[in-house]
Amino acid sequence: MALQVPLFINGEFVQSGSSNKLPVINPANQQLLAEVPLATQDEVDAAVASAKQAFATWRNVPVSERARLMMRYCALLKEHHDELAEILSQDTGKTFEDAKGDVWRGIEVVEQASNVGSNLMGETLENVASGIDSYSYSQPLGVCVGITPFNFPAMIPLWMYPLAIACGNTFVLKPSEQDPLTPLRLVELFVEAGAPKGVLNMVHGGADQVNQLLQHPDTQAISFVGSSKVGDHIYRAGTDAGKRVQCMMGAKNHMVIMPDADKNATLNALVGASVGAAGQRCMAISVAVFVGDSKLWLEELKERMSQARPGAWDDAGASYGPIISKPAYDKVLRLIAQGKAEGASCLLDGSDYQVPALPDGNWVGPTLFSDVSTDMAIYQEEIFGPVLCCINVDTLDEAIALVNDCPYGNGTSIFTASGGAARKYQHEIQVGQVGINIPIPVPLPFFSFTGWRASFRGDLHAYGKQAVRFYTETKTITAKWTHTESSTKQPNMSINL
Ligand code: NAD
Repeated sequence: MALQVPLFINGEFVQSGSSNKLPVINPANQQLLAEVPLATQDEVDAAVASAKQAFATWRNVPVSERARLMMRYCALLKEHHDELAEILSQDTGKTFEDAKGDVWRGIEVVEQASNVGSNLMGETLENVASGIDSYSYSQPLGVCVGITPFNFPAMIPLWMYPLAIACGNTFVLKPSEQDPLTPLRLVELFVEAGAPKGVLNMVHGGADQVNQLLQHPDTQAISFVGSSKVGDHIYRAGTDAGKRVQCMMGAKNHMVIMPDADKNATLNALVGASVGAAGQRCMAISVAVFVGDSKLWLEELKERMSQARPGAWDDAGASYGPIISKPAYDKVLRLIAQGKAEGASCLLDGSDYQVPALPDGNWVGPTLFSDVSTDMAIYQEEIFGPVLCCINVDTLDEAIALVNDCPYGNGTSIFTASGGAARKYQHEIQVGQVGINIPIPVPLPFFSFTGWRASFRGDLHAYGKQAVRFYTETKTITAKWTHTESSTKQPNMSINL
């Protein structure tokens, strides 16, 4: 019998009583890895009730104790780094190198959560009026919820619950039903690190379970990462229900290539950023914008891109893995066919790609389109596959207008030798994360993950100081104390607080 993925409720791993289950499939060979339940309403309620009960105690645990839990967790995650990456590779098909990156970028957020005290500190001002002082505290919200996508099953859950919990909240995680095995191991390690009962809970499921969490009277804040359509729904439903909501959503990221750029570095970066992880990254480059004569590099781009190839997770020569599921694979193939039908030139077509040793995998070879126009489906839709669309423009101003016209605003990059062009681009572009001679500019956790426009809904972004503000409420105190001799007590000579 396939592994039955447990729920984690009130400190116990428990089997769901639900008869509704989904298969967890290895996309490289269609092997059934496990079955994941769609949790019942009572189970979701029990997870929230446990988190609510734990909050009453956890919010009073000293910040240094909460931080120490994260330090222990961080050490365990590092110790189990390769094991986690191997589980993640099976679950998603990612190459081992890529899976290690997924785990590591999550660990970096836990490192930051271990230092939460500095970021939780409020503001103070003495003598706002005569003898009156004001100061503010950041207090936790209560039960926070995380809903995560398939494409970074370690990193994205780790964007959420460590920081929320370090801030004094408790948490219910609803990971992607497509690859729940990595989150399961992450939760097991959190228990091993000494997490008290109820502080973290995990339920599984899809739309129904998410909607229940959105409507639940005892949840306070919702962090979502996933597609734009689902994120729009979650933002509206969550805010209507009075929750604080942040949604990190879909993308279409452009790389602008100036003719003065270093050709070798640019083309290498472009191939890796477009087909790496089979294009299943919200920061993948899906559109290359050639400015002026840089369009002459197209043939060389095609040559280099044709050398990238998908393969098994433990094939050291593979550039990337399979598409996560059959429906996602069908969508990529549909869009490639539509691109050809709509008149784009398909210079490399990966639709029929086969990996001989794994004939049942969801493989798509590197796919390159030129002569793409902005009304085509391959430009408008997020393909989430190893497909790069190329557009030529004459000037940097035209490139900026093109990128700013695209509704998404997650990431972009410019490759150039000109500081002036880079400065103009970073200043005028309406995108929240900009790389200058860097193809995938994902900020480290001292900053926050700051997508804009259709790639984000909410006010405060993921991880970093913004997430500390998202997971806390500010309380401002204005205090007047009058000193009289009669109130003076004996001094306390102890150094204990
Ligand atoms: P998805 O939207 O299908 O699923 C994300 C989560 O939402 C899952 O947990 C899923 O169970 C849940 N869900 C699905 N349908 C739902 C519904 N109707 N109502 C409520 N919840 C629902 O996304 P995915 O395919 O797992 O992930 C890929 C998407 O995520 C891409 O669009 C990608 O750009 C985006 N993404 C964005 C970022 C970012 O930071 N902006 C990062 C990673 C991925």
